[in-house]
Amino acid sequence: MKITCEHCGAVIDTENDKKCTNCGAPYSSNKEYKDVRENRKRNSDYDFREREADIKTKELSNEIIEKTLKAHNSFKIFPIIFAIIFIMAFAFIIYVASNMFN
Ligand SMILES: [Zn+2]
Repeated sequence: MKITCEHCGAVIDTENDKKCTNCGAPYSSNKEYKDVRENRKRNSDYDFREREADIKTKELSNEIIEKTLKAHNSFKIFPIIFAIIFIMAFAFIIYVASNMFN
């Protein structure tokens, strides 16, 4: 990160220099340096919160998918019950019809 020295106006590369290479002034109290650091901290906090929200969303959608699948599985029973009732009704009709002609 590059900041401007408040004492002489020279550019300080904070990745390589511990103080201003031109006048030797420290930059730990440099406003620009503090602002950038504060911004980075805030951004990383935001990233963390975003990731946390992302995980919660995934958990919630997994829960919804699970519930939907469970509901879907219980719905498979209905056609079977319907088929049994239909077969019984059909058998009953055949039974009644065969008795009518005797
Ligand atoms: Zn300087």
